[in-house]
Amino acid sequence: MNTSKSEQLWKKGQKLEINGTSLFSRGPRISVDGFAPKYCDRADGCYFWDVDGNKFLDYGMAVGSIILGHGFINDAIKNQLSKGTNLTLLSPLEVELAEEIRKNIPSCQRLKFLSSGTEATEAAIRIARAYTERDIVIHDHYHGWSDWCVPSKSGVPKDCSSLSIKEDTEDIERYRALFDMHSGNIACIIVEPVKSEDVTYAKRKKFLRELKELCEDNHSLLIFDEVACGYRFGVGGAQSFFKVTPDISTFGKAIANGLPFSFVGCSEEIGNEVEDKVFISSTFGGNVLSLAACRATTSIMKASKVEKYLAYYGEKLKSEINKISEENFLQNSLQIVGFPQRIAWKQTNWDLVSLMFQEFIRNDIFFAWEIKNSYSHVEGELNQTIETFSEVVKICKKAKEENKILEHLEGKPMRPIL
Ligand code: PMP
Repeated sequence: MNTSKSEQLWKKGQKLEINGTSLFSRGPRISVDGFAPKYCDRADGCYFWDVDGNKFLDYGMAVGSIILGHGFINDAIKNQLSKGTNLTLLSPLEVELAEEIRKNIPSCQRLKFLSSGTEATEAAIRIARAYTERDIVIHDHYHGWSDWCVPSKSGVPKDCSSLSIKEDTEDIERYRALFDMHSGNIACIIVEPVKSEDVTYAKRKKFLRELKELCEDNHSLLIFDEVACGYRFGVGGAQSFFKVTPDISTFGKAIANGLPFSFVGCSEEIGNEVEDKVFISSTFGGNVLSLAACRATTSIMKASKVEKYLAYYGEKLKSEINKISEENFLQNSLQIVGFPQRIAWKQTNWDLVSLMFQEFIRNDIFFAWEIKNSYSHVEGELNQTIETFSEVVKICKKAKEENKILEHLEGKPMRPIL
């Protein structure tokens, strides 16, 4: 595979941009650095072309921000483009979209449009702190690069660190203990309602319900960060799937099928209480191009029940791949986990997963750790992926048996970003 143009660009780019990239999950660490392509030229449907002219079946889908397919809502975007991209006054689109979202997502009766996931979660925390008049935030994982949850503490004032606590477990007793320890000062718990890991529907629902009860008992707020999972479970979000309504919610990534857009939503009561207290304001928050893109995405999602299709594809991919893995005794290292709407490769043996990615790339299929199929991935792509895996698995099996995984790699093995 010729990736010489990618490599030339990287030589320059890594010296110009900090980290060489604005988004770690778009940089070389997500795949086999030295073998995998690094720069895209264009994308269409469920494919992208790199700068060297190689075409790939795309399972990254712009870090999950494309849910329908690349270019799927171009007509809606072009239509809006002719009428402006960001306007001087409010747009009627804001009212229309807010009404639509309010119908779809029970926890979003009042909302604020923003541009990125980080902005939305930052706003959610500010609202929770203002409403409860408390400071401490409990979070399960990554919710953006704000002071209260950024993985690297360098550049964050020391005092901020004592105001947020990381607790990534489904053991409700651990949360109960935190409430006991910090009695009366926990503003909120923010969690992703569902991650890409194996857990049953009943177990996750029970946990989310228990969290809600615990927050209620302690006069704290429950926030669901649906930036990554949101529309993959439908326009009502994972909260509608699990039938648990949080106090505050955040949505981003896929909601505008690739345009920068996010929102934070809350109940009528919380919204009314905080709106004269908190200051949250963004130049591009209600930009009409993103509003139009979100309106189009939402309406297609609803009309075509896209989430059902994503789940069908995800389930089939997961079960077929896992079956083949098991037949080859690799089920512990090459396995797909998670609810069918939100699947990922199991994170146990990164070296072997790297070899698998490399061999998929050789066969024109690009995977990232989280697997993002879209409405544009259809039966042909599904079969192609499964058939390719049947071949790729043989290479992985042999390399593992011979203890020569790293020798087979033609670049650096990937490592988790966080
Ligand atoms: N919340 C979650 C759950 C995320 O996965 C991410 C991004 N990966 C964010 C928030 C931050 O979103 P953004 O990168 O758009 O700021």
